[in-house]
Amino acid sequence: DSADIPAYLKTLNAAQRDAAVAPDEVPLLIIAGAGTGKTNTLAHRVAHLLAQGADPDRLLLLTFSRRAADEMTRRVQTIASKVSARHARLASGGFAWSGTFHGVGARLLRDYAQRIGLSPDFTIHDREDSADLMNLVRNDLGHSGKGKRFPLKGTCLAIYSAVINTQRDLANVLQSNFPWCAEWENELKSLYLGYVEAKQAQQVLDYDDLLLYWAQMVGEADLAREIGTRFSHALVDEYQDTNFLQAAILRAIKPDGRGLTVVGDDAQSIYSFRGASVRNILDFPTQFTPPARQIALEQNYRSTQPILAVSNAVIARAKERHSKELRSERISSEKPGLITVRDETDQATYVVERTLERREQGIPLKSQAVLFRAASHSARLEIELTRRNIPFIKFGGLKFLEARHVKDLLAILRWAQNLRDRVSGFRAIQLLPGIGPKTAGRIVDHLQNAAPGCELLAEQPVPEGAREAWSAFAALIEGLRQGADTWPAPLGSVVLWYDAQMDRLYEDADVRRSDIQQLTRIASSYPNRERFLTELTLDPPEATSDEAGVPLLDEDYLILSTIHSAKGKEWNAVTVLNVVDGCMPSDMATGSEAEIEEERRLLYVAMTRAKDHLDLLLPQRFYTNGPGGTGDRHVYASRTRFIPSGLLNAFAERSWPPAPEPPGLQAWAAQHPDASKPPLDLAARMRGMWK
Ligand code: ATP
Ligand code: MG
Repeated sequence: DSADIPAYLKTLNAAQRDAAVAPDEVPLLIIAGAGTGKTNTLAHRVAHLLAQGADPDRLLLLTFSRRAADEMTRRVQTIASKVSARHARLASGGFAWSGTFHGVGARLLRDYAQRIGLSPDFTIHDREDSADLMNLVRNDLGHSGKGKRFPLKGTCLAIYSAVINTQRDLANVLQSNFPWCAEWENELKSLYLGYVEAKQAQQVLDYDDLLLYWAQMVGEADLAREIGTRFSHALVDEYQDTNFLQAAILRAIKPDGRGLTVVGDDAQSIYSFRGASVRNILDFPTQFTPPARQIALEQNYRSTQPILAVSNAVIARAKERHSKELRSERISSEKPGLITVRDETDQATYVVERTLERREQGIPLKSQAVLFRAASHSARLEIELTRRNIPFIKFGGLKFLEARHVKDLLAILRWAQNLRDRVSGFRAIQLLPGIGPKTAGRIVDHLQNAAPGCELLAEQPVPEGAREAWSAFAALIEGLRQGADTWPAPLGSVVLWYDAQMDRLYEDADVRRSDIQQLTRIASSYPNRERFLTELTLDPPEATSDEAGVPLLDEDYLILSTIHSAKGKEWNAVTVLNVVDGCMPSDMATGSEAEIEEERRLLYVAMTRAKDHLDLLLPQRFYTNGPGGTGDRHVYASRTRFIPSGLLNAFAERSWPPAPEPPGLQAWAAQHPDASKPPLDLAARMRGMWK
């Protein structure tokens, strides 16, 4: 009875508590719908493990983003403080092994580098760097140039990535996901071989390698045992979005599932386009002996009843799902809004006004979020917010890291770490006055084959006029290599050097300078250069309205986010943009039923982020890229197919701006009683003929 329940578990319901204290001999799966407290329960389980004597440094905590990992740590710390003062202290240092699969993988690989034939100085390429390297190899093989229809570098990389993450063979991936590239199978094969060889020669790993090398490493029995015993427990949130390699890694380090806990919701699987497989969570119960214990949670604590009702109705129509019933005790009389606006400009104006109105009503901007399908969809809104001086922070859009000047600086740091990294070197060297791609290419070619030291650096042939600049730069790199163990001091010398180049490189250098300052601030929050480079590459900070970077913590700002980046979060008021066919589902994703189903789950994820207020916006006109990116198109939109007419009365429907009343209509209506009916929408009918 309740007297036996430790205080720190008292806030949980019975099913959540069962999950939190379930014995760790048997693998555990918590599979449940949105807002039922899965993440919350996982945090309690971690605190419970600590209470039972687990060592925080031996817990492997895997979450979807670094931000989610930090949030998890905070939650655990709060709970641990209710266990005892000693446990509060224990948790206060955080968890050495928490983060994303990619982040944790990078650190483990560095630890074991020598044993698996990697240089411990390997550098990590982000997607753009990887595409650049792919392009270099492609050019070397003669697959590019005028008149060639060979797939573009981004497509080549996407195909490669799909093959790695799903571990299916190339022909198979081409046939099912990239049929228009199938004719290039042989050429792609040789391209990928060249790409792998280039990465190995340069000691660079791309995102996919972090998982692939990790999976290969624990594919060796002795390493698997060694790494497996480092971790007493492995706990994974958002398991529905893991891919084949990630599941294989977990199975390798916890072959009998002892100490393994995974948590997720199959109805929220939204990353299959990146190789994630919902099969991981669906098959989990039968993958171990003894089989996993499965716990379902049914009470939703997040959303009001009317919001949950429409969300449930949207997902209930999904073709395939693990059925679950969600209920909420949060009574409210407010129906979710379904608001028709003329176009995206009106949509932006509406959102801004409604946001301010809510702030007046006491809901701070931070408790409000605007969600959208693709990062570009918030463009109008961003303009309007900026015009009205409303601060916002944007998740999932153009990242800080993608800014050219930030990439420049990182390239210098990465190249100093690994002189064989051609892409970083090529970028860094061209920052010098008087050095172009030709010289830069020659230098990186030399160094790629040279011993990994920098004795040769100063002697590299450069054009006469660039001599002096080059020797200063070579000295800078040399200094960075010597100061590799100190941090963030070496960054100071790089910033100083780079600052002197900026006016020549960029017309708007001053604007960019504030980003560099921001980067310096971020850098000093990392313990060393290695952690800084790895985490910034894998999980860069968000872009904000404020050029100086992330708004101060005490400042209020509106949240803008792609739906993908909103996973796991919640806000008091949520507005979803462009809830129209062509956008949700996206024009680009209507190729197969599987793709459409993923779009449905995406809408479900968006709607279930809302606690008290949910507004779906339906612009009657919007621009789309067209199927397959066939160029800008202006389309007349209609309500998404995921909200069938039968569901409309669960919404409060309205138009904005409200249609003006025609003059004299009232007098006329008095004589013609039928005129009180809404006018016929002939325009909509005309459009309907073409749908
Ligand atoms: P998602 O599927 O979106 O990731 P989730 O299942 O992980 O959702 P949480 O984020 O853990 O759900 O919890 C949703 C909300 O419900 C949070 O605000 C959380 O604090 C609250 N909550 C969870 N469990 C309880 C409980 N037993 N009592 C009160 N509130 C709870
Ligand atoms: Mg969660």
